[in-house]
Amino acid sequence: MTTPFPSATIVGYPRIGAQRELKRAVEGFWAGRLDETELTEVARDLRLASYRRLAELGLTEDASIPASFSFYDQVLDTTWLLGALPPRFEGAAGLAGYFLLARGEGGTAPLEMTKWFNTNYHYLVPEIGPDTPISLAHTTPVDLFVEAREAGLVVRPQLVGPLTYLLLSKPAVEGYRPLDRLDEVTSVYAELLVRLAEAGAPWVQLDEPGLTSDNLGLSSAEIAGLAERVYQRLGSVAGRPQLLVTTPYGEATEGLAALAQTPVEAIHADLVHGQAPAPLADKTLVAGLISGRNIWRADLEAKLAWLQAQPGAVSVATSTSLQHVPYSVAGEEWDHPHLKSWLAFAEEKVAEVVTLARGRNGEDISAELAAASQALATRAADAGVKVPAIRQRTASLQPADREREDYSIRQAAQAEKLQLPLLPTTTIGSFPQTGEIRQARAAHARGELSTADYEDRLRQEIRDVIHLQEKLDIDVLVHGEPERNDMVQYFAELLDGFEVTKNGWVQSYGSRCTRPSILWGDVSRPEPMTVRWSTYAQSVTDRPVKGMLTGPVTILAWSFVRDDLALGEVADQVGLALRDEVSDLEAAGIGVIQVDEPALRELLPLRREDQDAYLEWSVGSFRVATSGVEAQTQIHTHLCYSEFGDVIDAIDALGADVTSLEAARSHMEVLPALEATGFSRQIGPGIYDIHSPRVPEVSELSELLSEAVAAVPADRLWVNPDCGLKTRTYAQVEPSLHNMVAAAKEVRAHQ
Ligand code: GLN
Ligand code: ZN
Repeated sequence: MTTPFPSATIVGYPRIGAQRELKRAVEGFWAGRLDETELTEVARDLRLASYRRLAELGLTEDASIPASFSFYDQVLDTTWLLGALPPRFEGAAGLAGYFLLARGEGGTAPLEMTKWFNTNYHYLVPEIGPDTPISLAHTTPVDLFVEAREAGLVVRPQLVGPLTYLLLSKPAVEGYRPLDRLDEVTSVYAELLVRLAEAGAPWVQLDEPGLTSDNLGLSSAEIAGLAERVYQRLGSVAGRPQLLVTTPYGEATEGLAALAQTPVEAIHADLVHGQAPAPLADKTLVAGLISGRNIWRADLEAKLAWLQAQPGAVSVATSTSLQHVPYSVAGEEWDHPHLKSWLAFAEEKVAEVVTLARGRNGEDISAELAAASQALATRAADAGVKVPAIRQRTASLQPADREREDYSIRQAAQAEKLQLPLLPTTTIGSFPQTGEIRQARAAHARGELSTADYEDRLRQEIRDVIHLQEKLDIDVLVHGEPERNDMVQYFAELLDGFEVTKNGWVQSYGSRCTRPSILWGDVSRPEPMTVRWSTYAQSVTDRPVKGMLTGPVTILAWSFVRDDLALGEVADQVGLALRDEVSDLEAAGIGVIQVDEPALRELLPLRREDQDAYLEWSVGSFRVATSGVEAQTQIHTHLCYSEFGDVIDAIDALGADVTSLEAARSHMEVLPALEATGFSRQIGPGIYDIHSPRVPEVSELSELLSEAVAAVPADRLWVNPDCGLKTRTYAQVEPSLHNMVAAAKEVRAHQ
């Protein structure tokens, strides 16, 4: 007898622990406070507790709970499972070996990290070449299934699918195509599926989000063709479990059609970001109706109506894994009387899924529907959700509001005003956030340190940072951002239309979590946000101090954003709030202002056809924020990731006078590409890689700088680190910046 696909399920669940227990345990293991056995036990307890909680929330059918777990990252887990280790990790074993791939050690560089689809989750990029070993090196998915079964639960093993795994891999040797190993990888999955069936797993889930992108080097049709090949093959494995293939994060039209041709028993479609496939004759459609990406309570009435209109076998699910949302709204409190009722975090989303499945089964869910509709109604009518004055302001934006004078005029005015040397030196904004500063902020938050004392402490820190930069002979100084807990949350706390959470952590990568803010209403700025810190810094030095803001796209990307207004309009609201801040900084005598957009690429749609519209509104909002100033005020921006290819025209279109970029690790690779687009303004390619604790030698830095000078005329180059310094220590930063300035002087002397 086969187990039918459960009527309610989720694509995945957070695994870091509701109180970040796994984070603490993993970090404890790294620090030597826990040994491998202890860490393994913490992880097992967490997994079982999480399954039990999900069963309590209503996922009671066999195979309805995915065995979502990872000590670090699901793609790394796949690399580990396949034993696909690059030669530098040869011999890596046990949990220490697994973490070595993620974190590196001494001369062994870790795997590269990059963003998972259009999310702020980062995965570790597999390196696949012709000689990479590929075999079933571990049986972890089987072990997790057995562990749960022994505790009385039939869970659903969850794996990154073979196609997505290779689509996300990078060639281990130049010019190689990792997909050339697809048949071998598929064979390992075939072997694993048999083992899982032998262990008793009725269903196995294979995640193929690669089917929603045409931005991974292949067209959608090519990817669909490969999907058909893989799942024909896996579908024909004798003695296998039943298969669910998921396609989270977007539209997978061609991929869904291809999967429909294969023997897999259940196909998931992301119905929040994409569309349902044509009716599936002999399979279950796993309908991703509840967003795994956002935190708004769903319109259950509309979703139930859709479900009731579907013929055939349909199960209710989330659009993506819930790993992108916090655990529960239960412990949160806000002053706003209704906000909490508008939200659904992971636990509340599971309840929504279960409710809809009950409705589809004909049970009475009228009370739940009424509660959801009531919440939606208070939200739609809320005074902060729609503020006429803010709507008017965005509606009356004119093209001229996004334009400055010609760059040549600006450039001359700024040169005259700032009087900077050739190859001016600067930093990206933050200086190390010392333990004392964090403690002072925490004490202030607890009410143990008065605001006056806390602010004195911040001013002292700013003074020290300014004096250090003067001593290091840096040309354009920063105040160091000691007042900021986080580059988005700081602004969210000061802008209207936002709330922040107490415990709304989501995994960003490995043991790192972030706490996205909630952008729920129309955004405005009740009062200046950064002016007093920047002007204080400027008051203690004669050198120019750079004002420091986070740009509209990054504020949106790192928050949970309302789903009831076009993103472009939300971005313009944030852009206008920042425009006022920029003007206030300028009026207060700050002549250089940086608006960071490190997330510009992250929100780039997965499908090329949607990218132009995105780039138009994202660039447009940046220009709103930065175009309200005089020609002599210099606007900087900062972008930090290494794959600039898809957004290179957008970088130009931002129109910043100076753009600093991450470039040290990629050896200035971006510069020729940028120059080829006709980019004609100033660039600061990072020469000091702040992601490493190493202090770079003057010779390395001047070599990188010479490479930059070979690609870009020296009079358009700045000298700076790759990114902010807040995660480093002063012991690392001081000598590194010293060497950076020395390198600038050396190269300057040869011009
Ligand atoms: N100004 C920010 C800082 O220096 C920029 C951080 C970032 O690019 N992620 O910390
Ligand atoms: Zn950066």
